Amino acid sequence: AIEFTHVQKKFSGKAVIKDLNLAVPANQIFVLVGPSGSGKTTILKMINALIQPNGGEITINGKKITEYRVQDLRWQMGYVLQQIALFPNMTVAQNIAVIPEMKKMPKKKIKERIETLLAQVDLPAAKYAERYPRELSGGEAQRVGIVRALAADPPLILMDEPFSALDPLSRTQLQKLVLRLQAQLHKTVVFVTHDMNEALKMGDAIAVVHHGKIQQVGTPREVQLHPATEYVARFFADTQ
Ligand code: ATP
Repeated sequence: AIEFTHVQKKFSGKAVIKDLNLAVPANQIFVLVGPSGSGKTTILKMINALIQPNGGEITINGKKITEYRVQDLRWQMGYVLQQIALFPNMTVAQNIAVIPEMKKMPKKKIKERIETLLAQVDLPAAKYAERYPRELSGGEAQRVGIVRALAADPPLILMDEPFSALDPLSRTQLQKLVLRLQAQLHKTVVFVTHDMNEALKMGDAIAVVHHGKIQQVGTPREVQLHPATEYVARFFADTQ
């Protein structure tokens, strides 16, 4: 589990995250949803120490983030971004192998893992492993990005607007894919989106973020039926 206690973050003197208290339970999809600029990405980047808070404390499995070696911390996490940054001069298989190789996973095991994972995202290795990123559609590249994040089998996956750049059909397919994978793998997933419908679809729990504060945390049903603040009610109504 991940816990934020009284966390704050300022950029050039302006508070972007204000007294954030949040507990992200293990082995489920936890969605941070809110409008552009509300602070979702900043919260996510504090989990992998790309951003350091100015105050408060973040713990992962009971240990303060500041007490982890950054490399150990990052190796526990896979990261999936909106614009997936695959290495253009490496094949799909080589892109996926980068982290497992750094972790010194045996070559044979890496190969097996690549094949299994590609099959799970409906990209058969025989057809896709030797392709280059430029030979993939946006949806296919995003699937490879998901496989890459899972390759070294980290317990935690961070996803920042992973499907926002996709067409509606690919987006729906990938939402289903992640839900299917999650049912098998039971990772701890922190999923950032500005889309309330996506949040309702993907989240075991949802935290609504506005101006760097958490407005409500609950199951999709709770947030939908019993909005805790006027803001949540309005945000939800606007996305119908
Ligand atoms: P989006 O959906 O647009 O990515 P978000 O909810 O993820 O939005 P953040 O990216 O966390 O929001 O940004 C929150 C606020 O912090 C914004 O006002 C942004 O301009 C500001 N901000 C983020 N990073 C920096 C930075 N490195 N320096 C200065 N201001 C920043």
